[in-house]
Amino acid sequence: MTNFMNIMPPIPELFDSHCHLDFPEFDHDRDETLEQCWLAGVRSICIPATEARYWSRVLKQVNYSPDSVRRFVSLGLHPYFLKSHRPQHLDELKVFLKRHSETVCAVGEIGLDFSLTDSDRQQQHYYFIRQLELADQFKLPVILHCRKAHDEILKEIRQIKPERGGIVHAFSGSEQQAQQYIELGFKLGFGGTITYQRARKTRQLAASLPLSSIVLETDAPDMPMSGYQGQRNTPTLLPVVLEHLAQLRSSSTKEIAQATTENALSILAK
Ligand SMILES: [Zn+2]
Repeated sequence: MTNFMNIMPPIPELFDSHCHLDFPEFDHDRDETLEQCWLAGVRSICIPATEARYWSRVLKQVNYSPDSVRRFVSLGLHPYFLKSHRPQHLDELKVFLKRHSETVCAVGEIGLDFSLTDSDRQQQHYYFIRQLELADQFKLPVILHCRKAHDEILKEIRQIKPERGGIVHAFSGSEQQAQQYIELGFKLGFGGTITYQRARKTRQLAASLPLSSIVLETDAPDMPMSGYQGQRNTPTLLPVVLEHLAQLRSSSTKEIAQATTENALSILAK
């Protein structure tokens, strides 16, 4: 008797916890990209918005069909685009969160980016704190962007303590900061960075942190992986991150896939 299970090795089901699939870089081949994702085992994607004018665009990406890639969306004001934000966008965010409470899975991408030298840090703080409060009010997790500001971000989330926790996207902080996020109910996102040998500190953390605290991401179309420099990053390459993480942890891709997908769902699924 033929054992079909042996003929068709199960593709591990993967969750790309951070991908800007709404960006124009995907306008010409979004559907094909999603088909390729499905074939590569990438069965869920979270798409975080970056500016108020893109919230409607991101909401169009929502899809929960079991026959195609599940797409979760998150709404927020990204610190990198501070100059586009206006205080009234916070009121609008509240309206959007109320109106789309069935579909919006998180508040994000929000945070602090202190690598930007010409950015007003006080204003960054203002938008970040207001959005943390909104997340807490709507009982939603947050998707965090952080550059050179982990201690400042930790200080704020320790005070406001969004009940549902969240995901620190593209984590590259210290082990101590990682532990503090974990204690506050956060998962840490690892992506293309761990495919580079030179990223020693981040690779070491990805290898040693508890698997229950790790989620996978591509941050596509940004953050190209090693071997793909100069090309558009794409969520179809998430298995490359998986392979690297499995190697770093001397673990099977199946175990890592299963755990990281469960971890992402535990934060982002309603
Ligand atoms: Zn992002």
